[in-house]
Amino acid sequence: MLTVGAQAQTTADSTQKKAEKKYQAGPRQARAPKTQPFGASAFGASKSTTIRWLGFAGFFVNSRGTTFMVDPVLEGFDMPVLIDFPIAPKDVPKLDAVLVTHADNDHFSVPTNQDLKSVTKAYHSTIYVDSLMQNLGLPAQGHTIGDTFKFGPIQVKLTTADHAYQNAYPGMSKRHFKNEDACGFWIETPDGNIWATGDSRLIPSHLTMPTPDAIFFDFSDSEWHFTFEGAVKIANAYPNTPLLLCHWGSVDSPDFAPFNGDPEKLAKAIVNPGRIKVLAPGEPYTLSRLKKSDKK
Ligand SMILES: [Zn+2]
Repeated sequence: MLTVGAQAQTTADSTQKKAEKKYQAGPRQARAPKTQPFGASAFGASKSTTIRWLGFAGFFVNSRGTTFMVDPVLEGFDMPVLIDFPIAPKDVPKLDAVLVTHADNDHFSVPTNQDLKSVTKAYHSTIYVDSLMQNLGLPAQGHTIGDTFKFGPIQVKLTTADHAYQNAYPGMSKRHFKNEDACGFWIETPDGNIWATGDSRLIPSHLTMPTPDAIFFDFSDSEWHFTFEGAVKIANAYPNTPLLLCHWGSVDSPDFAPFNGDPEKLAKAIVNPGRIKVLAPGEPYTLSRLKKSDKK
């Protein structure tokens, strides 16, 4: 039976932080541009698909009036935060869905999701995270990797992730974690396809996806993520796809690699660096389809 509670989840994440202290990244840490707050009007009718980075690995998408968030963390994180959140949960008027890639509290924020519950139609995640959400009374649905689900004009497929780092740190968790506890999302909208990779080590299938029209891109140099070199490989496998940077610039953590990626370093390493989108939290980005000639 899966009975790991919210408190156990938070404790596990802090333990990972201590365990990974050895991955020093130097004193300097890149910071996100100044937040551009948004409110209820961003949730209204629309003829396009607008994406906003929320800070952390979180995104808000309004696709022709259908609204959803991926991995929203908008309050209550257990480390010092460098950004102003672009919207508070109490100011969110409605969400058709919240998608969560995995249980770590920089992706699955218990306080944020509890405070979004009254305005959110459905939560979607893996089978394991669904069990945590059910414990919180959220209207959640769990899916296996490769499953698809729909809401409004949006179709989502769970993609593979490899992020079961907990098993490598004895004492972190009594539970044995499986790769399928974490996922990414392939999100098809009327205006193009988004790949939210989730946190993962690099696996071969990451390099052979259909060409996405945007990637929610984690370029942190952590061995439990893609590593920096692996992130560059993914970027260059889809050389014309815009990269909407995330998992950087949000947490005061210069000595913890997963939180301190630097966009300038990425720009020097990838093909076609002009497609890097260093968005401010809350800044709107309009999704558009790549030209056929720009796809593989
Ligand atoms: Zn993470």
